[in-house]
This record gives sequence, C-alpha cells and structure tokens, in this order.
Amino acid sequence: MKCKTFLRRAASALLSCLLGCSCMAVQPVFADETALSIRGDLNRDGLVNAADLSLLEQILLGRERNDMDASAADWDGNGSLTAADAWGLQGFLLGIPENSTGLNPKMFAAALDGIDVRIEGDDILQTGTVNGQDYTMTLNLSKWEKNTTPEQLVTLSRLFWQCYPRMYARYADLSEAPSAVTLAIENEGYEVAGASGNFVHLHDTWLKRYPNDFDCITHELAHVIQNGWYGEYLEDSGFIERFADCSRYEYALDSGRYNDGGWTLQTIADESTRSTSVRFLVWLDYNYTDADTDILRNYLDVCRNSKISSDQWERAWNEIFAGTKLADRTIDEVWAMFAASDFANLSSHSSSGSGSELLNRYPIREKILSLEQQ
Ligand SMILES: [Zn+2]
Repeated sequence: MKCKTFLRRAASALLSCLLGCSCMAVQPVFADETALSIRGDLNRDGLVNAADLSLLEQILLGRERNDMDASAADWDGNGSLTAADAWGLQGFLLGIPENSTGLNPKMFAAALDGIDVRIEGDDILQTGTVNGQDYTMTLNLSKWEKNTTPEQLVTLSRLFWQCYPRMYARYADLSEAPSAVTLAIENEGYEVAGASGNFVHLHDTWLKRYPNDFDCITHELAHVIQNGWYGEYLEDSGFIERFADCSRYEYALDSGRYNDGGWTLQTIADESTRSTSVRFLVWLDYNYTDADTDILRNYLDVCRNSKISSDQWERAWNEIFAGTKLADRTIDEVWAMFAASDFANLSSHSSSGSGSELLNRYPIREKILSLEQQ
C-alpha cells in the first residue's frame, strides 16, 4: 500500500514536471551495435529521451509493457524498478549532474511539502520552517551502501518533518534541544539505531531486514529532544528509554501506520512496575495532561534537569503530578489506579492503518493533536 501510494505521488509529480517543462532535453546516446542494453533506453531506439521516461512511468503505474528493455529501466541498478529509477532518469534528462548519492533532490522535495531540498556531496540537506521555527535535517549518506532504498530514505525524511517539530514544540524549551539534526544511514556501527547529541545513526541494513520499522527513528529523535539526562537523578535509569518509547508511540509516523503492527506497548502483565512501564507514561499523559498542565513536560523537566537525586525520587513524583488532578496522590496510589484500568490491558497492536483496541477506546494521538491546536 505504502509503495503504491508513493509511486502514484512520484509518478504524478513526474508527469506534472514533464507537462510543465519545455526544457526537457533530448540526450542522444549512440548505440554500440554489440551492446545488449543502454541505461535508460527502454524502447531500444538508441536514444535516451522523454519517450523512455514515459514508458517507465507506465510500468510504475502498473501497466504491463513487454516491448521494452527491463534492464535499461533499472536506472539505479539495484535490481528492482521503483520510482527512484524514474527520478534518476528524469534527472539525467533535465541535465542534473549525477552526484555521489545518485539521487535526485526532486524526489525528496515532491514528498516534503514546503521543504527546501538540495544535495551537497554525500548530504541531502533539507531546510524548512514549521509553525515559525526553522529546522534543518541533514540526511548523511557517506556510509550508505543502498541497502536502505531511496523510497525508504524519503519516508525517513517525511518522518523527521512530521514528528520532530511536534516534539520540539512541546519540549525543546526545557531541554534546549537542537533544531538541526543529522540522520546518517551507515553500513557500519551499531546494527540498529542510536542517537548522540543531534546525530542519529541508522544502520543501513536495518530497514532492509525490517522494512516498516521507521519509528525506531522516532524513538531516536526523542533522545535528541531529551538532549542528555543522567541516571543518578532518576528513580530508574530505564526512564531514559521509557520516555523515548512513549514518544515513539505518541508521535508515530502517519498515526502509527508503520509502528503499531510491529511494535506494541506491553500490557501490565509484561510491564508490572512503574519503573518498567512505557504504557504508564502514555496513560498519565492521556488522562492528566490538559491545556494548563502538561504532565510529560513535568516528567521531562524533573528527569532531565537533575532536580532531584535518585534517593529522594519520591518527591519527584509530587513535582510531576503538580498542577494535575493527581496532585494529592502518592505514586503508589496512582500506579494502583493505572493497574485497575482497562488502559493497562487493552492490546495496542493493529495491522497497518487501522486502530488497535487501545486506540479505539482511548484516542491517544488525537488528544495530543487537539492539545497542540489549543
Ligand atoms: Zn533509546
């Protein structure tokens, strides 16, 4: 589904460019009589031109064509025909010089409304303004070996622009989080993903193995938002990860379309204490954040700003609950309320694009969006 939608969008962007552009140069390529295949010459007429691009678009739109050279259509040479091949061929026809990434910046710009995209060396630089705040996302491809597909790179870029500004608007003043972030796709290093400062690493093979696990990057971006905090000021050092996982759930790309099928909030049977529970944070936020008091901002502030040492943590919960309906409760009482709720037990799993038991009963993501609009 994702792929088809993407291809449709890419193909329509290409078509509109083709129709609107009179600058489409015909680039003659002289055929070597013995050559079996010329890159881009789908109709085997010895020229690489708009007719070949038109053929490629028809294939991407699902129309069967037997009268063309399939290997010539695979512009990026990765063994499959995707929108990236059309973008590559189009870039060639428009005279855009091939750069070290082999990618056409228009492919990203078409998916990122209002974001300026340009390629500098191994970087795809994306700059834009969201709700009055300027952001820069640098997609660094110096160690990219094309295990992550161009389409996945576009989706990761969409993820940044959809998720990071929302988290930034909510928390950055407390943590002095950066507005410029680098996401490096690296075929080396830690085999999943990690964050350090404003640098996020994603192993190049991760999305090849788990093609929909984009929201591991939402988790890493939440670490960038945290901007460092210290275990000795926490009841449990796992809170660092719990906050990132809570954010992963709340800010998941496209309302959890890629997240909720493969990554779920554990129920209370699996996360039996407040120190191990991500769902407890989501429950606190859903039920007790309102227009006046943001309980997760309280949580981030207490955790991140080294306000209370671990041995006095009981007092931290008082600060976290301050200003909410939980203000006169102890943490043990609050945990008991959570444990008695069906919120602690409903399944958060859903196949892509449909609600889970938990979301059907508690529209968690809608509530966060409505608070953002107030
Ligand atoms: Zn983490």
